[in-house]
Amino acid sequence: MKERVIIFDTTLRDGEQAPGATMNLEEKLLIAKTLEKMGVDVIEAGFPAASNGDFEAVNRIAQVIKNSTICGLARAKKSDIERTWESLKPASRPRIHTFLATSPIHMQFKLKMDEAQVLVAIKESVSLARNLCDEVDWSPEDATRSNRDFLFKAIEVAIRAGANTVNIPDTVGYTTPEEYFDLISAIKNNVSNIDKAVISAHCHDDLGLAVANSLAAMRAGARQIECTINGIGERAGNAALEEIVMAIKTRSDFYGVETGVDSRMITRISKLVSSITGFAVQYNKAIVGANAFAHESGIHQDGMLKNRETYEIMTPTSVGLEKTSLTLGKLSGRAAFKDRLKEIGYDLSEEMFGEAFKKFKDLADKKKEILDEDIVALVDGSITNQKSRYQLMSLDIDCGTNREATVSLKIKIDNEECKTTLRSKDGPIDAIFNAIKKIIPHSASLELYQVQAVTEGTDAQATVVVRLKQNNRIFSAHGADTDVLVASAIAYINCLDKLK
Ligand SMILES: [Zn+2]
Repeated sequence: MKERVIIFDTTLRDGEQAPGATMNLEEKLLIAKTLEKMGVDVIEAGFPAASNGDFEAVNRIAQVIKNSTICGLARAKKSDIERTWESLKPASRPRIHTFLATSPIHMQFKLKMDEAQVLVAIKESVSLARNLCDEVDWSPEDATRSNRDFLFKAIEVAIRAGANTVNIPDTVGYTTPEEYFDLISAIKNNVSNIDKAVISAHCHDDLGLAVANSLAAMRAGARQIECTINGIGERAGNAALEEIVMAIKTRSDFYGVETGVDSRMITRISKLVSSITGFAVQYNKAIVGANAFAHESGIHQDGMLKNRETYEIMTPTSVGLEKTSLTLGKLSGRAAFKDRLKEIGYDLSEEMFGEAFKKFKDLADKKKEILDEDIVALVDGSITNQKSRYQLMSLDIDCGTNREATVSLKIKIDNEECKTTLRSKDGPIDAIFNAIKKIIPHSASLELYQVQAVTEGTDAQATVVVRLKQNNRIFSAHGADTDVLVASAIAYINCLDKLK
């Protein structure tokens, strides 16, 4: 039996800290359910003391998720830790993650505390957390820039106070694989009670080394890796879950360990997170990029035909990337649609199913073959839309060369219908966005407008991502439709709903 490495996903906490990646409760819940289904061990669901919205999201996830540990982040403060515990209480396996900086620069400038004071604060905060909760994860923030002797002492204090996981964050993405391997080895050799805790890696990708650093830590004895889907997170992001999981799986001959993650759900969750956050995945991204399994050169294609293993180290099927043979169409009924949803991994309430089925029928009128990607776009769209105050009722556009664009649109706000008409010299998108602004006044600026086809073919659905900035806060939302202009209007309205 191979030793198990704990996969700790922080898409909903560190990932959400990426500018513009704010998610609403329904979206977070959908991601959490998918993470649970794929076998992720620990889900860091948020930072409950940060806001009421965060508290509520962690609390709801704690109620719903049964098979994964649910973790909440807390600063080393009594009020933070108690609030975090309050939100985690319903979880079948709750975990408090608390942290305090240990590097000279953070202690001097941010905390304004000396070493002795930091040690006292660690002891008090970890003891408090452990009195409330059986599982306590402790992080020395900016560990990779801390003085080693002090770091060892701090870890020892945390374990003595009850921490059963010690996470060693490379908060600023500064370390290298060799250095991080050496640091984890030194912790194993110098912290007297280290056998009482699991060592964890948490790496940022500022130098493009987050995954390499995490794997180096694992080689040195770390048995938990903190990561995010598609590597989203602060600045350049975190270590990517899909790369960690597939490196461990593909090179199990070398690493000799395993994870509990079902890699066949990787493609599905990657698309889900990309669609919810509006962060497109780069084409050549490892594992989940559109080109990750495309073989272009003649020599490679020839080799692949003779034996796939000539150029393929893992199969598309192993990450859940397969063209489905079974497609749905106009004549597919409720049962076929329900079956397909289940296969993809959705478990919808009756009400949501009814709404999704209606949309599916509408789509089938416009598009001959409905592929899995279409269903994902359609259902994710309904989930985002469900709680929105604004609904697009109708949109009519007249535009073309040598003509001003004229837009008439109707939006339902709560239960009231509002109509407007607007003309623009700058084309239909400008006209749509300004018409919406007339109905829903705001001062946000458009930071990003992005269109992507969900599938191939000219009848494909388009997913539009809109990112708006107001008072230095960034919000993203998406909309999907076979009509790119309708999808644009929906995305813009959804984004305004998040912002308001
Ligand atoms: Zn981080």
